[in-house]
Amino acid sequence: MVIILATLLEVGLNLKSTVKFAIGIPWLAVHSFARCPICSGLARTERAYGRLFRVCLDEEACGFGWAGDFPNWIARMGMGLTGSWGGLEQGGQREDYLVRSLSGLGQKSFLLLGVGATRVFRVLKRDGFNVEGADVSVEVVNHWRQSFGDSFFHADNLRSRGKKYDAIICCEVVEHWLKPNEEMQTIRAALSLNGIFAGCTNMRTPHEAVEDGTSPGYMAALGHQAYWTERSFAALAGRYSLGQSAFAKMLKPGVLDGVPNKRLFFVSDDSGLIDQIRKIIPEDGVIPLDAKSYRPNDYT
Ligand SMILES: [Zn+2]
Repeated sequence: MVIILATLLEVGLNLKSTVKFAIGIPWLAVHSFARCPICSGLARTERAYGRLFRVCLDEEACGFGWAGDFPNWIARMGMGLTGSWGGLEQGGQREDYLVRSLSGLGQKSFLLLGVGATRVFRVLKRDGFNVEGADVSVEVVNHWRQSFGDSFFHADNLRSRGKKYDAIICCEVVEHWLKPNEEMQTIRAALSLNGIFAGCTNMRTPHEAVEDGTSPGYMAALGHQAYWTERSFAALAGRYSLGQSAFAKMLKPGVLDGVPNKRLFFVSDDSGLIDQIRKIIPEDGVIPLDAKSYRPNDYT
């Protein structure tokens, strides 16, 4: 009996991996000759976490990696009220840190794009920041509109609103992008002339395997479709007149030691602003922000 149960369990586990792989096969057939959507370089196929990825491999490769086994309509549903921080009105320290830092450098109006139901929106509103929020999840939009009305809206309406912001913040969003060019273009259109786009994601190192141990598990999540390098992200931003960039490392929230594999990114057309940001990044490149100790009265 035990053997039968164990066998069934093993088949179940293998089935999950097999299904993921089976979804990847037709995608691979379509994309066999695909070129990198960022730099048009040649790409190799790589299997990681039971999925298939394309990784840009030209000599001067931008290193961008992407999957394609997750339909855009599901990606556009967002993460709902659960979010990535453990539930309704939890977390958001990284957005908080970015808004307060950029406010200190003179940016005045902020959009938290893809912020979900994290607590940061309420904290920043309470503290009087000129901040609006947007998300692809209808239930998230409904949640915030009960308290804050029109200052929280569906992300699909960003362009039609026609409003410009000094800073757009996207934390744990850009790895979900299936259409990076469209997404960056939309963000550029919603930024003021010297505006800045900032946020965080895990980034990979060009020429290293997708599943390389420095960012364990990150691309195992099916919703994670785009695996950026600093070079590929800067190249995409540059295409949409956000040609100045700065990057900083950060430990994964809640982790006090280990590889600082989380990246903060800052892209803008304002070289003076990016220079100022470079000055506030510590010499070792690692931002000393840990969710366990950051503004404990607001977030724990
Ligand atoms: Zn590329």
